[in-house]
Amino acid sequence: SAKADRAGVAVYEEVRDGHGRHRLEDVAQLRRALVRGELVLHYQPKLALPTGVIDGVEALVRWQHPTRGLLYPDAFIELAESAGLMAELTRQVLDMSLAQRRAWADQGRDLTMAVNVSPSNLVDEDFPDEVAAVLARHGQPADRLVLEVTESLLMEDRERAVRVLGRLREAGVGVAIDDYGTGYSSLAYLAALPVTELKLDRTFVAALTGSPRAESIVTSTLQLAHALGLVLVAEGAEDQDTVDALAGLGCDLVQGYHLSRPLPPDQLWSWLDARTAV
Ligand code: C2E
Ligand code: CA
Ligand code: CA
Ligand code: CA
Repeated sequence: SAKADRAGVAVYEEVRDGHGRHRLEDVAQLRRALVRGELVLHYQPKLALPTGVIDGVEALVRWQHPTRGLLYPDAFIELAESAGLMAELTRQVLDMSLAQRRAWADQGRDLTMAVNVSPSNLVDEDFPDEVAAVLARHGQPADRLVLEVTESLLMEDRERAVRVLGRLREAGVGVAIDDYGTGYSSLAYLAALPVTELKLDRTFVAALTGSPRAESIVTSTLQLAHALGLVLVAEGAEDQDTVDALAGLGCDLVQGYHLSRPLPPDQLWSWLDARTAV
């Protein structure tokens, strides 16, 4: 269950709160984790609805902590951002995910790789060059990489973020607006952004079956996305009814526990094999 999966995180929080563990110590541990290579990636598949093909995966970072077990991003992403470690974290995530994409491509599976990026990445004018360098190092095509950014992130330093995103788009990298619908973006604002995908937040997706209101939100978001030439991804589909409803409404891609939880690379590979086996 989710509770058991996240036990490591719960314990971690308890230690921090209960014993007043110093933030400095957490920062030092995270810094060490980056040096020692303790971050690992799990991958969650994205299903293309009209074709039933697995089009790509989203890379989700975990921290294989030496004593606390597997920690989920909720336990350390904010810390990385506030401690100035996000540039390095993102660099490592890009490096690992593109090495993995290459390995899979070499074995005959050409998957789109989606990577989450943070506010500090998008206000860094060097970021597009770094992304290009990692792509080149692994010999990977830019158009098979999608960077997922949240709406709130785009509000912080809009001009700079638009500039950085524009350069990534020029290089051919895809850009998705993550958790779409939870912020306050206007249509005009969205239309002006150099993006390729909207990822509808799972709160709307979860409410979809049996709620005409949620269905209207999905329908209008789809119309908006398609009018702007964007791909609509629904995240957080937890049952077949939801997947069917999304397919019926014309959603392009779906992600969620019903299909698969995020998995370590070898398990994802087996999962893909099992799906395509006759
Ligand atoms: P996100 O980008 O919105 O990622 C989706 C989260 O929802 C993931 O949690 C995923 O495991 C979870 N999820 C997927 N399908 C379902 C479902 O059907 N139901 C439910 N309830 N949840 C589902 P996770 O892996 O714990 O990641 C949490 C957040 O941490 C991510 O949200 C993202 O904002 C951030 N994150 C993850 N990896 C990275 C990374 O490499 N870099 C940065 N900067 N942030 C990351
Ligand atoms: Ca995401
Ligand atoms: Ca999301
Ligand atoms: Ca989220």
